[in-house]
Amino acid sequence: MLKVLGRIFGKLAASHVELHASETCSECGSQLARNVEGWGERPREPLDVSQDSSPGVSPHQAAAWSCPNPDCPPQVLKRVALWASPEAMDIQGCDAAIVTQLVNRGLVRDAAEFYRLKLTEIAALDGMTKDRAQQVFDAITASMKRETWRVLVGLGIPNIGAVEAQALCKHFRSWDALFAAGRERLMKLDGVTECTARNLTHWYGDPVNRKVVTRLEKIGVNFKC
Ligand SMILES: [Zn+2]
Repeated sequence: MLKVLGRIFGKLAASHVELHASETCSECGSQLARNVEGWGERPREPLDVSQDSSPGVSPHQAAAWSCPNPDCPPQVLKRVALWASPEAMDIQGCDAAIVTQLVNRGLVRDAAEFYRLKLTEIAALDGMTKDRAQQVFDAITASMKRETWRVLVGLGIPNIGAVEAQALCKHFRSWDALFAAGRERLMKLDGVTECTARNLTHWYGDPVNRKVVTRLEKIGVNFKC
């Protein structure tokens, strides 16, 4: 399961992972890969230590390298935090401390696992009161009915923030229509750059990602634009 959502969010998260002045990720040991601006601009390239731009050359150049492993612990945390965040599903009361505990305890590794949490599991978190646990549990349940543009943001598709997600949902009215649209049609919309259009089509072109959409739909998350 982790691998499934890992593939969805990983490419986004990788672009935000703290970069290391070494050839491998200090968190998971993966070989660092070149991090390009806007996933889909061009494929990531494996680290070539013979190049002058190897990590540590300069802050600017170092920023071009990141961990490509979607299961890297900091990336898992970022994906889960993104889903719960006010910018995405806005799960109220599910703050950074709670998200961190949920991930560290292996209770939530991807968006869908929020909706399998038991009240008793939330109540058992450090610093949690019975009332607060109930509030978080209720907020998670309520988040299934959030506007669908929030789902689009929460999935972590690069370049898709609230403005882009709202515009796309408003224009296409359904996820099927959105993902049936080709790159050229997407680019005709205001605010949709070639990179954004490419990211969308690339993302949905991956059957693993489509399976996750199906999974969230089955849970009851709102996909109606
Ligand atoms: Zn890593």
